[in-house]
Amino acid sequence: MTPAPASQAAPARRAPPSPARQALHKLGLVRDIDLALYLPLRYEDETRITPIGSAREGATVQVEGTVTACEVQYQPRRQLVVRLQDATGSCELRFFSFYPSHQKAMAVGTRLRARGEVRGGFWGRQMLHPAFKRAEGELPAALTPVYPTVAQLPQAYLRRAIATALTRVPLPETIPPELAPPPAAGAQAAWSLREALFFLHHPPPEAALAALEDRSHPAWHRLKAEELLAQQLSQWRARRERAGLAAPVLRPGREAPLHEQLLAALPFSLTAAQRRVSGEILRDLGQARPMHRLLQGDVGSGKTVVAALAACVCIDAGWQCALMAPTEILAEQHFAKLVEWLEPLLAARGRHVAWLAGAQKKRERASMLAAIEDGTAALVVGTHAVIQEQVRFHRLALAVIDEQHRFGVAQRLALRRKLHEGAEAGRALEPHLLMMSATPIPRTLAMSYYADLDVSTIDELPPGRTPVLTRLVSDSRREEVIQRIAAQVAAGRQVYWVCPLIEESEALDLSNATATHLELSEALPQVRVGLLHSRMPVADKRAVMEEFKAGRMGVLVSTTVIEVGVDVPNASLMVIEHAERFGLSQLHQLRGRVGRGAAASACVLMYSTGETGRLGETARERLRAMHETTDGFEIARRDLEIRGPGEFLGARQSGDALLRFADLQQDAPLLEWAREAAPQLLERHPQLAEQHIERWLGSRAEFLKA
Ligand code: ADP
Ligand code: MG
Repeated sequence: MTPAPASQAAPARRAPPSPARQALHKLGLVRDIDLALYLPLRYEDETRITPIGSAREGATVQVEGTVTACEVQYQPRRQLVVRLQDATGSCELRFFSFYPSHQKAMAVGTRLRARGEVRGGFWGRQMLHPAFKRAEGELPAALTPVYPTVAQLPQAYLRRAIATALTRVPLPETIPPELAPPPAAGAQAAWSLREALFFLHHPPPEAALAALEDRSHPAWHRLKAEELLAQQLSQWRARRERAGLAAPVLRPGREAPLHEQLLAALPFSLTAAQRRVSGEILRDLGQARPMHRLLQGDVGSGKTVVAALAACVCIDAGWQCALMAPTEILAEQHFAKLVEWLEPLLAARGRHVAWLAGAQKKRERASMLAAIEDGTAALVVGTHAVIQEQVRFHRLALAVIDEQHRFGVAQRLALRRKLHEGAEAGRALEPHLLMMSATPIPRTLAMSYYADLDVSTIDELPPGRTPVLTRLVSDSRREEVIQRIAAQVAAGRQVYWVCPLIEESEALDLSNATATHLELSEALPQVRVGLLHSRMPVADKRAVMEEFKAGRMGVLVSTTVIEVGVDVPNASLMVIEHAERFGLSQLHQLRGRVGRGAAASACVLMYSTGETGRLGETARERLRAMHETTDGFEIARRDLEIRGPGEFLGARQSGDALLRFADLQQDAPLLEWAREAAPQLLERHPQLAEQHIERWLGSRAEFLKA
């Protein structure tokens, strides 16, 4: 057995950690400070005893009395019935699940405290499954905290662990008075961190419970300020660290620069917005420090060509560029487009565009890997395969990630490592990073979670696009919709029909899409109807996609695999079945598949109200938003309102990185404060800043940088 490493946090021990301790660690509760910052969900009032005689029906109270009866009854079902008596009356406690230990603990004659909701009844007052304990010692002076917990971690254990940690943990102030957060509304004086924490864990009985539970209390205000500051600090620090790193300076060649050759060869000219963001990106690439930029632009706004221009500059300077997309279909589309645009230009220089994906013939893959390693692959396009271990770049200087929010934290960290490997040996050069997203980030999120990113926004669609008309249609009108498809196809247009993903059952999902495929094939005998599903072999998917792109297929039935990136300008109708099951940004992305050509396009959101006969509240809000606007930013703002920030963060969303206490909408003034205070704290009190980050983020700080 290898001895456990000595660590300050936990003394070396031979026994394996108990399940409860393991559960603590899983929740990230390792250090005393982690426990101290783990705050109650709500409180129970065990500070007072209500005389049984005055306990009112429906109230949750604590009573104390002597057990006068304790017996198991079998009618109407097996249960333990205990009678508790005090000077004012009596009350029955009923337990439908119980152990012999219950009977022992509540034997006749025992003094007992029981807490629960009082119910009336023919037989007088009752409590079902009350919390109970032997009436010993004084009543607690503070409200009893109830913490969020998991099955393996008993509430009592967690409470004890937190209470102990709280007595031990040093809580020095890390925010100097001159940078203090604005006081909470109506608060007399600012709270120290120590006061706030002790108060929140053990509030006195007279505390305003409502303000505690809705987190508007000044003590919460203090905690939220701390948390937001930690987030800003870690991002500022990441930004400063990056600014201190060296990156290859990428400038276009003097003669016939590649990006200008590309511009000249394109069948269109850039929009003003594309020109502007390209300028921003090219400026970054020309610096000796790594770019860390997010390129956001609505679906169809033309991000790919901007990425291609950046790749050109990188290649021109003699380096390699990698482009990674979350799905094989999307990666392949990029590949096709980039080959079309760049291969003629690159071939003259003896360089090429390479393709890497999971499903790839061994021989092809080997030759791609060789080309990447010897540098003839100037641009490498692919899925996650791009960051796999066998891939060795010759000189990687720029990485582009499409639909960045779809990648997980681990993948982003892997990419960073890969970037390092690819940097020139001996000189620790850090490559530039360009992330792309069609899900615009609302301002509050950009200010908080993405504060370490520079953001470029394409806020204009290429000319000649016709706005997509969105219609909400009940699925009782399915026939009508199918007839509409026939008309579109007869007019030479193409149609997408999207079936929802059924989360619980991929098999059901497949059968659904298959059934719809069959139904449409039968209803439209003169039309070729294709089927695309995530479980299909890649080669089949590719074949179907090619048929559709080439216009040889009128209708494409698919699951959400077409969600991102698919580009078929001739498609003018999008039907989304069970639209009520999709998320808002998903619907918006899907709708973005049509309206890419000159023909008037429409999106039919077909909804089903199911057995209830009506749509749920959020489903209705989502569909309404889709109907009312096609503006990606507005959609994103509403989505944030409906769902909260989790979905936007993608990679960063993995629990830990999320704000636990602060709410970006509600606490906007605190966010503003944190944004101003963070750089000043870093500048003037670097040690306090470090201490603050360490306290709040500890080992999680690394993740936030990904
Ligand atoms: P997204 O931002 O959603 O990734 P794409 O890069 O796929 O958008 O571009 C959508 C379509 O618009 C593509 O067919 C692309 O070639 C075309 N496109 C891009 N920029 C322009 C432009 N300035 N003028 C006309 N078409 C353009
Ligand atoms: Mg795209």
